[in-house]
Amino acid sequence: MAVANRVKHTKFIFVTGGVVSSLGKGLCGASMGALLEARGLNIGMQKLDPYLNVDPGTMNPTQHGEVFVTDDGAETDLDLGHYERFVSHRMSRHSNYTSGQIYESVIRKERRGEYLGQTVQVIPHVTNEIRDCILAASEGLDLLIVEIGGTVGDIESLPFLEAIRQLRLQLDARDTVCVHLTLLPFIKTAGEIKTKPTQHSVMKMREIGIQPDILVCRTEQAISRATRDKLAMFTNVRSDSVMSLPDQDTIYKVPLVLHAEGLDDKLCELLNIWSREPRLEAWERIVHTLENPKRKISIGVVGKYVDLAESYKSLHEALIHGGLACDAAVDIVYVDAEQLLDDASAASHLAHLGGVLVPGGFGERGSEGKIAAIRFARAHKIPFLGICLGMQMAVCEYARTFADMPNAHSSEFDPNLEGAVIALMVEQEDVKEMGGTMRLGAFDCDLAPGSLAARIYEKVRISERHRHRYEFNNRYRERLERAGLRLSGLSPDGKLVEMIELATDVHPFFVGCQFHPEFKSRPTAPHPLFAAYIAACLQYQRSRT
Ligand code: GLN
Repeated sequence: MAVANRVKHTKFIFVTGGVVSSLGKGLCGASMGALLEARGLNIGMQKLDPYLNVDPGTMNPTQHGEVFVTDDGAETDLDLGHYERFVSHRMSRHSNYTSGQIYESVIRKERRGEYLGQTVQVIPHVTNEIRDCILAASEGLDLLIVEIGGTVGDIESLPFLEAIRQLRLQLDARDTVCVHLTLLPFIKTAGEIKTKPTQHSVMKMREIGIQPDILVCRTEQAISRATRDKLAMFTNVRSDSVMSLPDQDTIYKVPLVLHAEGLDDKLCELLNIWSREPRLEAWERIVHTLENPKRKISIGVVGKYVDLAESYKSLHEALIHGGLACDAAVDIVYVDAEQLLDDASAASHLAHLGGVLVPGGFGERGSEGKIAAIRFARAHKIPFLGICLGMQMAVCEYARTFADMPNAHSSEFDPNLEGAVIALMVEQEDVKEMGGTMRLGAFDCDLAPGSLAARIYEKVRISERHRHRYEFNNRYRERLERAGLRLSGLSPDGKLVEMIELATDVHPFFVGCQFHPEFKSRPTAPHPLFAAYIAACLQYQRSRT
């Protein structure tokens, strides 16, 4: 009998956080998912975000980090990216709910009269709505891991915690577990790890009515038996359920560290799940390759959100995965596009690097710097990958240099522009609302047989995720093709340009894509475009020495 059949209904792991934010709850939840999946269980993941935005799509990436896009076109929290990189379950719009979405739905129901004249309140109407979203996402799974964003004590997370408290009461005692993630600060002057903030954070949880079953303590170093015992006593958590998760040099070690702490065993014990020992060879191989790379390569990522690496989270990871495929360590150098003013400054920032990548982005700031970077990479035959805005800027650069269009640009930066090689599609022209109105989610793309793209993907029909408003302007297709630009990927109806490239006898690797391949890369299955790009960068580096 398959292991999955031995769990008769869905069980739940709720992941909460205390003391401070940014402890890596998402990563911890994703790692738990990886461990339980490696035990043969069918895992799903969900993130509940207490903020009031309907989704993070309209937030500045430097505030909130990357917006992760699902196949079904939801703009979601970047933690969903971790989930997809660690477990095989694909996320959807039901994998991420914000307070904004929950309230929007409750208010819509109220306007439709669905509450039959009742006074609509946080308890039970909002909490029921949250509960229903959790239960709907759990269908068909052995286990759903639900992460509550924010930190216990925040006003806006209360309805989510209350919904969980009620759910725990309604479900069988052995069907839910609460894992609480906290920080154990090390106070240098006292030379001690301090447990008090964790004690208070668990006190807060208990005040709300949730006794955590497991504590995962983020620390700089491993903790002693005495610290575990002390924490256990003050937090009412069993000593063998106090786990430590010291800082790691790579996130892909986290499943292995948590396994060594006994986390997956403990979860299975508490949830009464019989399963095999986890198969962790794939994670062990990944860590081994990361720690013993045969080669090294530096890649310049030229963008404008370079102050917060979280803005390019999936891209960052996809480059690391590309390195894994080539047994290489990838050093990612973020270059502020605004520093690149001309060929000379582009040279000073990029000449020593093994590859240039221009990622997605919005707005005009930095666009000339991106174009300068692209021109430098093209002219010096440095492997180039342009993603979304990166592809759009590559089209502009090509039009300016080879198609006699010195003012070529995107109409995103000037709506009345003559020579807009990148422009709005008709269906976008009347869009007034900003949230959720871009071309979002998975779309098929047909690759030109024999193109570099088709050779990389080893097939001609691919599906990739999108998040953009502007497109290659078809008015200039012929002119640019005549000038030597290859349109190597088109939408199946032929109307949209999805990929561009230069012939390999002109440039060894010059590829642009209108979609975001980084969203589909996994350490266990590096994306072919990133694997091929890193391979080209290594080749280029070898050719220079
Ligand atoms: N700003 C561009 C557009 O909306 C590119 C978006 C992106 O890079 N994700 O089309």
